[in-house]
Parts: sequence; structure tokens; C-alpha cells
Amino acid sequence: MKTFCGRANPTTGSMEWLEEGEDYDYHQEIARSRYADMLHDKDRNVKYYQGIRAAVSRVKDRGEKAIVLDIGTGTGLLSMMAASAGADFCYAIEVFKPMANAAVKIVEKNGFSDKIKVINKHSTEVTVGPDGDMQCQANILVTELFDTELIGEGALPTYEHAHKYLVQEGCEAVPHRATVYVQLVESKRMWSWKKLFPIHVEAEDGEKILVPPSEMENCPGVPSVCDIQLNQMPSSDFTTLSDVVTMFSVDFSKPVQSAPTYYRVQLEPVKSGKAQIVLSWWDIDMDPSGMINCTMAPYWVKPTSALQWRDHWMQCVYFLPNEEPVLQGEKLLLTACRDEYSVWYNLQKAREEENKAAEEEHKAGVCVESPVCRCRAHLLWNRPRFGELNDQNRTHQYIKALRRVLKPDSVCLCISDGSLLAVLAHCLGAKQPSRTDLYHPHELWQAFFKANQLEDKIKIIEARPELLKPYHLEDKKISVLVGEPFFTTSLLPWHNLYFWYARTAVSTHLASNVTVLPQSASLHMMIVEFQDLWRIRSPCGTCEGFDVQTMDDMIKNSLNFRESKEAEPHPLWEYPCKSLSDPQEVLTFDFTKTVPQHCLSTEGSVNLLRKGKSHGAVLWMEYHLAADISVSTGLVQISNEKGSCEWNPHCKQAVYFFSSVIESEILSDPTAVTYAINFDTKTGEIAMDFKL
Ligand code: SAH
Repeated sequence: MKTFCGRANPTTGSMEWLEEGEDYDYHQEIARSRYADMLHDKDRNVKYYQGIRAAVSRVKDRGEKAIVLDIGTGTGLLSMMAASAGADFCYAIEVFKPMANAAVKIVEKNGFSDKIKVINKHSTEVTVGPDGDMQCQANILVTELFDTELIGEGALPTYEHAHKYLVQEGCEAVPHRATVYVQLVESKRMWSWKKLFPIHVEAEDGEKILVPPSEMENCPGVPSVCDIQLNQMPSSDFTTLSDVVTMFSVDFSKPVQSAPTYYRVQLEPVKSGKAQIVLSWWDIDMDPSGMINCTMAPYWVKPTSALQWRDHWMQCVYFLPNEEPVLQGEKLLLTACRDEYSVWYNLQKAREEENKAAEEEHKAGVCVESPVCRCRAHLLWNRPRFGELNDQNRTHQYIKALRRVLKPDSVCLCISDGSLLAVLAHCLGAKQPSRTDLYHPHELWQAFFKANQLEDKIKIIEARPELLKPYHLEDKKISVLVGEPFFTTSLLPWHNLYFWYARTAVSTHLASNVTVLPQSASLHMMIVEFQDLWRIRSPCGTCEGFDVQTMDDMIKNSLNFRESKEAEPHPLWEYPCKSLSDPQEVLTFDFTKTVPQHCLSTEGSVNLLRKGKSHGAVLWMEYHLAADISVSTGLVQISNEKGSCEWNPHCKQAVYFFSSVIESEILSDPTAVTYAINFDTKTGEIAMDFKL
């Protein structure tokens, strides 16, 4: 069987559908899965085990047989815990076939085949009865179906169904309950992920301020969850305006309803400020008493010493529809609305006389509609991209570079997605800059131009660079070609080299003395030790005494299937690491020339300068706007002698995990890592190999 997989082609900037064998999807899924991260999550595993033991004991103490239903068994871990704890029988349900197969092997290897039946079905397809998948209903319900938003992986409908058909009334549930917490904050940094801030442009004839259109100001944004490693957000980047408040709880031992609903709490700000963001996380109580608690609370709520790092559960950032000035001590109503899979928030001032009316309004279902972007900016720009466009420092670098090269008679073409460069170019004196984007949200640009009296000042060319015709440019030659470069289809840093391909495609339209900005780009590389990120790709061996090597082998096999010579994107501001080598420039790309026919390759070695474990190499791009103006999409600086790295907070860097880790101890005799890196100009992809 064949499947079609969508992949952006970095040489054309467009999506292509490649035919892949049926194994492809499955290997991708396993290789990039969170199973390893879950197995490394000691805190989670220990607490599940405690909760399961306690639940089995409670059932046994009642003189009943312990029949367990484990929905989403994955490796079979929680069923094996139950069987070890004395459960009489476990039904382990797993919808993902390769995982169900793995669970069978792991269960067998650990000697539980007679106690655990693995069923490769979605739980809603499972049948109960003498000829069914399950002989009888279970009296212990064990699951781990949660994502960072708690309900995003469909936990509610799954529980709703299980309580109706698969478990007995009054069953024990592990976890017993989940509670969602919120805290109201003001944060310019996080707010910059949702709103476009005014942009200050210092032009020769004075400062101009570009403002977002009102449609954008009042837009509720997109419903997708914003989940981040909140523990990496320094306390200087936000102000808490309220205490931590319990928003809602779900008791998993009772019937669960998944139908859309809302929860409301009253809160009083502890500080006056601008309410912009609701930070949220949850905890789960593994037993009814709440003694066994596993929490995602961030560092300022929980002592740092007790923090367990994990990537499969993080924290959520919710953006209020509008910024709301609030006063210390005033009464506010915070509403969490949810449908089956997602949550969103609303904040209102609670005025006594309006309380009732507001209640009625909500009963009428006013808030049950999830946020939908009306201004289109939230469809064009994702949250990191909003942050990047709002980065005045970065904008300033482009302004400085543009000011040097633009002349009143410049014919300027911008090639970048959703970029403000053409607008900047106009403010800085270019008469009528043109732009080609891969996606043109007309209404958005019309509104933006109108808000800034820029109608007809910027020409949008609706042709891909390779289809550009002289008439698009009114038969003029381009004297200034600019790009950030940024393209929405890029996954890895070097995919933005599409700018180079586009520049090559428009060659015949360039004036002989054209200025290309950026003039060049370079690929940089550094060897690092990760504080935690290594866990997501590292074998586990045994987990709470159970042999899960089958899973390790499966992941390794899938990594080797296709990905072994590939890097993966990660936003490293969320994943601390220390540099073990100096950053090294490994390849350069000259945008003043066309893309060459031949590959660009390099080989070399890099010395390890610090003690540490070499988990992998990080790669990123730097763009050289002028001889002395560069922007880095990766390393910003190494901030201390220990090698702590500061990364660009808006971009993902490429991480290449080494298949084996070396520990460098001695500095007098430096160890070196040799590398071979090849940029294939035909495909736009980079292949790499490292030897330790
Ligand atoms: N229980 C394991 C794995 C948890 S990951 C552990 O704790 O380590 C969740 C797993 O549940 C995934 O493998 C997913 O494929 C599966 N899953 C999610 N919803 C399901 C459902 N309704 N029925 C069956 N499997 C489900």
C-alpha cells in the first residue's frame, strides 16, 4: 500500500505530494513520538504506579476481583503495573497498530501474557460480553490520554463512552481526578505573539509609525492551543495579576460529559495592570484522597527542586480576546469555555447589577463559540512569527540596512511571506515597492494599507517568482531585491534558502548593478549538551522495573529508516543547553550569485572545549544584510563561562541528535568531532554526518 505525504519543496517553496510506502507514516510517527519522553518521566511513572497499587488494593479489600481497563496502553506500561500490583486481569486497549504490536511483545517479555490482553482497537469500538473483546465490564479504569491542554487528545469523549459501556458503576479510576488551574498575567512578550504592535520606522523625513488595522486589534485569534515550556519564561517577562485559581475539575471515576460547556470563577487582581494572558496548567490526583498528586505547576508556584522535566505535558498560554485594564481588588469574572477538545477564555468585570444578566447571556450560549480569526493575520502569521515581526530590534536592523541601499528611484521587489519589508521600503523612500508572496490574504493587506494611508503605494504581484513577467514590473529592472528571508512552508532553518532559488528564478529581471539584501547567508553549527531535551530521543531500557527495550529498538529502527541523517526543528529558547564547542560557520550562500548546479559540501572538525555530554549538534542560519549588519536565527550569545546559550526566541533551530553520546572530561587533550555537511542544490536539503 502507498500513502501520499505532503512536504514543502525548499527549491520551489510549494507543497508537493510524494508517494511513500505504507511504512513511511508509521516510522515518522514512531521516530518522532513522545513514548520515550513518557517513559523517562519518572515522576509520572512513580505516581501512576502508586495510584494503581492503591486502586487494586481498594478493590481487593472489598473482596472483588480486580478487572482493569487500560485505555491507550502504548507500551503496556500501566497494565503491567496493574498486573504486578495483583490485578486479576487487564484489558489493554491501543488504537495505533504498531504500538499494540509492541505492547504484545513487551507484555510477553515481562511475563504477563496470561494477565494482559492487548486489544488493537479504538476504545469506542471495544465490545463487552461472552463473545466480546472484554468478558465483563472492568472495575478499575486506568488511562493516560492527556495532552498539555488536558482534553486535546480526546480524553473526555473516551471517558464518556467508557463509563457508559466498558466499566462498572462505582469503578476506581487512576487518575481519579484532574484539576485545571489558571493565573491572570500581563506580559508584553507573550502578548506580542497575538497582536501586531505599532512599528516605529525612523525615516529621513522623520519617524513614521505603522499601526495594525482595527480588524486585527479586535480579532479573537485562532483556537489552537499555545503550549510552551513555561519554566523557561523568566519572571521578568511577565507580571502575575492574580493568585492561582482553580478553574475546573473532572472526576474520572464518575460518568463524564464531553458536551461543550463553560466554567466561571470570580477573582480579584492582586495587582493593577493589563490583563492579557491566562496561563494554565493542570494536575492529576492518582487517588481519591489527593495524596498522590502529579502537577504541571510552573516554577514560581512549585519549588524548583520538585520540578520534573517533560515535553509531553507542558503549560498553556491563552490569549484574552482583548487587553483589559484591571484594578487591584476589583471583582472580575473569568470564564473558561470548552468544547470536546479545546478550551478558551473570557474575562469580564463583575458589576453586581449585571451579574444576573451576564449569567443569562452565557446560558444562551454566547461564549460557547471558539475563537475564529476574522482579520486573517492569525492565519498568515503563527505565534512565533508575530513575535518576530514585533521584535523592534530586528526590524531596526532591516531598516538600517534598507536605508543604506534604497534610493528614490529604486525598483524594489520583496520576496518573503507575510513580510513587512515592502512597507518598510516604502516608508524609507522606495517609490512603489512590489512584493510576491506565496499566499496573499488580500483583505488583510488592504486593511493594513488603509490603516496606514498606504493604498496603492505597494504593488502586490500575484505571480510566483519563476512566473514573473516584465509587465509585472512595468518593464523595469529590479535594482533592490529584498527578503527576510522567511517562508511559511519552511520547517528547517535552511529551507528559507528558497529566497536564493527565487532570486535565481528572477535573475533576468535584475538590473546589472542590483543590490540583493541579504547579500548572503551562512550556516552555523555548534556541539551542545542539553539539560533535558536528550530524553526525547534517548533509549530507556527499563521503566519502573519493566523491560521496555522493545520500544527503544522500535524507535531506533524508525529513526534509521529515513531520518538518521536528518536534523529536526526545535525552538531552543525552551530547551536549555550548554555549548561544548565554539560556534562554527560551516557553509556560506552567496545571494549575489545564482544557485550553483553543484552541491555545496564541507568537512572539518570541531574541538570540544568544555566538559560535558555531546548530545548533538545545533545548526542555524545567519543572514548578512550588509557587511556589518547580520541577523541570527539561532545563537544570540553564549552568556557565561559555563557555556549557557541564548537563542533567538522566535525561531526554531535544527537539532541533529548523535546516535551515541560521548562524555568529554579532559580539557588538556581536547576531543574533536568531525563532520561532513552537504547542501544538495537540487533538493534544497542538507545531509550531515558526524563522527565522535
Ligand atoms: N499508557 C501509556 C501510553 C500513553 S500515550 C503510558 O502511559 O506510557 C496514549 C496512547 O493512547 C497512545 O498510544 C494512543 O494511540 C492511545 N489512544 C488514545 N486514545 C485512545 C482510545 N480512545 N482508544 C485506544 N487507544 C487510544
